[in-house]
Amino acid sequence: MPDADLHLHTYYSDGTFSPEELVCRARNAGLSTIAVTDHDTLEGCQPAIHVSREQGLECIIGTELTAEYESHEVHLLGYFVDPKNEELKRHLDTFQAVRQKRIYEMVERLNRLNVPLKPESVFQLAQCKSPGRPHVARALVKEGLCNNLDEAFERYLKQHRPAWVPKFKIHAVEAIELIHDAGGIAIMAHPGLNRNDALIPPLIRGGLDGLECYHSKHNKTAAEKYFSMTRFYGVLATGGSDCHGLSKGRPLLGTVRIPDSLVQALKDQWQRRRNDTSASAPPFPTSTLAS
Ligand code: AMP
Ligand code: FE
Ligand code: FE
Ligand code: ZN
Repeated sequence: MPDADLHLHTYYSDGTFSPEELVCRARNAGLSTIAVTDHDTLEGCQPAIHVSREQGLECIIGTELTAEYESHEVHLLGYFVDPKNEELKRHLDTFQAVRQKRIYEMVERLNRLNVPLKPESVFQLAQCKSPGRPHVARALVKEGLCNNLDEAFERYLKQHRPAWVPKFKIHAVEAIELIHDAGGIAIMAHPGLNRNDALIPPLIRGGLDGLECYHSKHNKTAAEKYFSMTRFYGVLATGGSDCHGLSKGRPLLGTVRIPDSLVQALKDQWQRRRNDTSASAPPFPTSTLAS
């Protein structure tokens, strides 16, 4: 049975599981490889990697960036990025600061609608650097201002609803370069949710390494279509459930699984990229050392 799920969220963004709980559940689900891909943060990766080692699982470092290409939102998964890369750290800090400011803006809009939510209620519940709309929705329910999460989104938070605030998006090609410069592999998350396959060829020309063919919101036809595309363009195929924990009912963890051959292809590409980068780096000026 295929046993890798490469798209998982923790409570460091909008999931509900701690990294530790995620790994334990992954082991119980019979997974042998996972990737933690929280929105705009790498905070959950190290703890997950640590527990994975103890539990005999492999955990790949990752993040999911919200990007834009020709006015279309695309999500890019960055696998194997170096968490110490300064440029990546700087960008993630900015994305997180913008997300925090956006919470205040959404709360302000709610207050103008006479919904008495306090920003502290959201931050207390989020307890992470990368909060988003789901945290506002949960706070609205917790404070008794909405009956459930769906109502919170339908009434206030969905796109073009009165408390919706658009999210900052980095240009997709810039995001791909950022991931590459941090030593990572850039994969388009859930291409089926974009509803625009015309974005794929130019992004592959822009350096995109592959497509997330297998995803909980892709049916069999969509998965097969995107897999054929990856064979046509000679790029990677990946997959994952996009589990957010208990926030959307039954946890999706392990409901999408990919075989080890696809994980291996992802790793091979990463190794090739590393070797290419070191081969093209200018030689270190040894004469300077001698003098
Ligand atoms: P944000 O990144 O802050 O814009 O929030 C996006 C998150 O909100 C994603 O994880 C979505 O799955 C979640 N989301 C979007 N629409 C809904 C909805 N109608 N009900 C529950 N969650 C939603
Ligand atoms: Fe999410
Ligand atoms: Fe996404
Ligand atoms: Zn996701």
